[in-house]
Amino acid sequence: MKRYRLRESMNGIAEPPRKTWFWELEAGVIEADRCIQCGTCVAACPSNSIGINEDTNLPELVKMCTGCSLCWDFCPRGGLRYETTWPPSTPSDAPEAQPVELVTKPDPADTYFKLTGAAPGKGLGRVEATYAARAAKRTDGVQDGGVVTSLLVALLDSGEIDGALVAKPSSDPDEPWKAVPTVVTSAAEIKAAAGSFYNQSMALAALDLTGKGLPANPRLAVVGTPCEVAGLRAMQSRRWPTGSHRVDAVFLTIALLCTKSFSYEGLMLDELKRRRGIDLDRVSKVDVTRGRLIVEYIDGATAVDEPIKAFHGAALKGCDECADFLGRAADISVGSVGSNDGWTTVLVRTERGRQSFEAARRSLDVRDLDDASALIRLDELDQKIARRAMARDLDPMGETFMTYDDHVANYAGTSRQPVVIRR
Ligand SMILES: Cc1cc2nc3c(=O)[nH]c(=O)nc-3n(C[C@H](O)[C@H](O)[C@H](O)COP(=O)(O)OP(=O)(O)OC[C@H]3O[C@@H](n4cnc5c(N)ncnc54)[C@H](O)[C@@H]3O)c2cc1C
Ligand code: SF4
Ligand code: SF4
Repeated sequence: MKRYRLRESMNGIAEPPRKTWFWELEAGVIEADRCIQCGTCVAACPSNSIGINEDTNLPELVKMCTGCSLCWDFCPRGGLRYETTWPPSTPSDAPEAQPVELVTKPDPADTYFKLTGAAPGKGLGRVEATYAARAAKRTDGVQDGGVVTSLLVALLDSGEIDGALVAKPSSDPDEPWKAVPTVVTSAAEIKAAAGSFYNQSMALAALDLTGKGLPANPRLAVVGTPCEVAGLRAMQSRRWPTGSHRVDAVFLTIALLCTKSFSYEGLMLDELKRRRGIDLDRVSKVDVTRGRLIVEYIDGATAVDEPIKAFHGAALKGCDECADFLGRAADISVGSVGSNDGWTTVLVRTERGRQSFEAARRSLDVRDLDDASALIRLDELDQKIARRAMARDLDPMGETFMTYDDHVANYAGTSRQPVVIRR
């Protein structure tokens, strides 16, 4: 197939037409330093052939690849780039965008849409309601208003969910403040995972629920960065087998607003511990807010307060291409931007998101959002950076990269369909 460099170079290997191998993903995304460690490829592989390299925390082939194409199809830096995973924002300047048509195909005429999968228009995406909220009773360690923690506890208490996929700090003493994806099933575990950890964790790989003590048909909430939610949504919308990964069990998605994430080694160990001498065992909070990285110690002292650009070397390069700061594919998006300190910005996007938020409302103080325009401004900046990155990196394999039309052609005559989110 034209423009699949690796497949072309695999002379002598008889392969059925229209296959995509893991090695395409490896060359085009992982080795090209574009992987954002979402774990979608691991979860998408129907033969459980993709694992995680212990040293790099990147996907690697652990057994035979059948060339089924699914890892490429659902990768937010691979096939998903060419297909829509969320409906376009209402093209409006109004901060409170109106709900839009949900079943949406990419507009092939819109180059930007094709390249980033992001809405070319302004606005918050589909939004049913916006709030600033905080837990009526604050849990130790929460990042902003503690809404995510309260919401998950309320849903667990009411039996709406059996558990949640969250990120908890690693228990390895050599890896303080490293996010590790974990399926939690009790309020105590949810509370112990409160707060933000600024590394990607291959989260969706943790959707293998074997041995987690969950019922046969569990209902899970997933808390993740927008790229993780996009990968998950795409897999849910196409019922391909996903090996032992239970994407079907995910009942609710909560996206953390995100402009960039970091390599754990690069940010926490190189920049903070080694270069600045930060004692990570004494840290109580790491925050990226108002363009600065702030690290606080347990005794209240500020350990670091520097412009975030000082840490750009530790950021994941693939995040530059990301234009989904707002987590448009989620049921609920949450963040700090748009609300005063100590409150969480909440964008309720779907009916399921609304019902879940209502279930938690008794445990929250809820009021109007402080500054929706701050969200719009940051989203526009994020999209601008993504546009620039794509213009620069259109050719990550050192040759013409597969275009949208090539991708669609790759589906032609097969039973496979491009991904379109329906919800
Ligand atoms: C990498 C990253 C970048 C972010 N960037 C922004 C930003 O630019 N602007 C903005 O407004 N908000 C951003 N946020 C979101 C913000 O930091 C808070 O998570 C959000 O406001 C919710 O606060 P809370 O007090 O309600 O959450 P809490 O009640 O403290 O709960 C947070 C939940 O998030 C989970 N979690 C923490 N880290 C991760 C992770 N790495 N991956 C998956 N789940 C995780 C925790 O396990 C917990 O369940 C970012 C978060 C992360 C992790
Ligand atoms: S970006 Fe996600 S899906 Fe793509 S290779 Fe990396 S972990 Fe896999
Ligand atoms: S910036 Fe985008 S790609 Fe990077 S972690 Fe956040 S949501 Fe994922």
